[in-house]
Amino acid sequence: MSEKIPLLNLLHTQTLTPVVTGAGTGEKNPVRKSDPFSNRHNVLSADAYRGKIYTKKTTGYFQRLRKKMSFLLLGLFFVVPWLQINSVPAVWFDLKAQKFHVFSMTFWPQDAVFLVTLLVLAAFLLVAATLVIGRAWCGFSCPQTVWTFLFMWVEDKCEGDRNQRMKLDKQSWSWSKVVRKASKHTLWMLISILTAYTFVGYFYQIKPLILETVNAQLHYLAVFWLMFFVIGTYLNAGWLREKVCLHMCPYARFQAVMYTRETLVVSYDQQRGEQRGKRKVGVDASAKGLGDCVDCSVCVQVCPVDIDIRDGMQYACIDCGLCADACDTVMDKMGYPQGLIKFSNESGTTSKALFKTPKVIFLTISAMLCCLVFVYSVISRDLLSIDVMRDRSGILYLVTADGVENSYTVKINNKGAQASKFKLEIIADAAFKVIGSQQIQVPRGEVDTLTLRVWINQQDIQRYKSSIKFVVKAIGSNAENENKVLASQISSFIAPK
Ligand code: SF4
Ligand code: SF4
Repeated sequence: MSEKIPLLNLLHTQTLTPVVTGAGTGEKNPVRKSDPFSNRHNVLSADAYRGKIYTKKTTGYFQRLRKKMSFLLLGLFFVVPWLQINSVPAVWFDLKAQKFHVFSMTFWPQDAVFLVTLLVLAAFLLVAATLVIGRAWCGFSCPQTVWTFLFMWVEDKCEGDRNQRMKLDKQSWSWSKVVRKASKHTLWMLISILTAYTFVGYFYQIKPLILETVNAQLHYLAVFWLMFFVIGTYLNAGWLREKVCLHMCPYARFQAVMYTRETLVVSYDQQRGEQRGKRKVGVDASAKGLGDCVDCSVCVQVCPVDIDIRDGMQYACIDCGLCADACDTVMDKMGYPQGLIKFSNESGTTSKALFKTPKVIFLTISAMLCCLVFVYSVISRDLLSIDVMRDRSGILYLVTADGVENSYTVKINNKGAQASKFKLEIIADAAFKVIGSQQIQVPRGEVDTLTLRVWINQQDIQRYKSSIKFVVKAIGSNAENENKVLASQISSFIAPK
């Protein structure tokens, strides 16, 4: 039977009595003993000082899954700024011009509704995912975790696995230690620089950013943000790591309110594992009154936040599944079934059954529908808009020798329409004529203005105020929508009373 997850622990971790075992010692009781395998401190106190964590390398299902996710996310992050569509970056948040280019679509400040909708949708997806699989976002896709694991991988390559790193830190300085430490920090710094350039490249365009760096012509704001992200990445992923999750991330603090009895979280099967104790392979543990936990502390040694999952669910746990992988390896060696530590829930529903429950099906369908509606509304939005303004010089109309004139300024905003050449026409129930150029060229992602006058003969004037509709049509051989009205706006024509 699955272990009951003490959900209250998640909300009140700071007030819990510090538990129980010095990992690896097998002792149960009131005082936590110092751990011979790591220098971790009281893990249940959020504000307690936590020393350096020496994470042991492990392999297994969740580690492989995270690697694939990390490759995908890092790949997308580093490659996308280099992609161009029609000589415009595929994704470019051009703050200076107040335009966001996203795969041939241009968003303006007036499209902020899409950004708000996207944020609401992201929040909904996060809540829905948390309801079902706890903090899987934290453990598998959060940038803090992805970069931390990348930095840990570099650390492992330069300084060796856990025991080698602990030994190296205790050693006095030697050439070998200097080389190992220097290579680690150099690589960390290189990744940080690469990250900073890529991130700023989303706002500045990556090629000009690099070119201006080479020519020492960078704008001081770009220099500031590059430095900010280099230092931020280096400190966050290299030094602060789990402390960001513990002390800075608000999500860790309120995640417990989203948990239900069905939520899958990484947990230790206490009934099966206890009484924990060491034994040799092949020894009948039940004869000694022992459970399946061999008290090897490997699950603690691999934990990136340095907690002992056997103490119960804790808010510091990011559900990365590393302890489950490590424990499965131990179980394999001992000849016991895997799953002493696994994703499980308080209700005891298996993950397979859980994904067939009405709640999860409802959440999945709702999430998919919301995503589809959002994508459809973005794709089907007007790719051309016009803004017709009457002359604001204070003159309502101008009486000429043979008629009456009104002046207008028409702003045409090409948010990504196929064409770039347009003509402006008017539709009205009287014989109005347009004076001035009716054609305009507006490249994608640009706004341009057309100033024109509308004239009517004195005899044709029917009323003081008439409605006229301004319509924009595409022109030119490349225009897919030739003669189709792409945008329109109604304005008024004023004549003498
Ligand atoms: S890895 Fe498994 S067997 Fe070893 S201490 Fe942790 S729970 Fe017990
Ligand atoms: S307890 Fe296990 S799942 Fe939680 S953070 Fe540590 S290793 Fe990851």
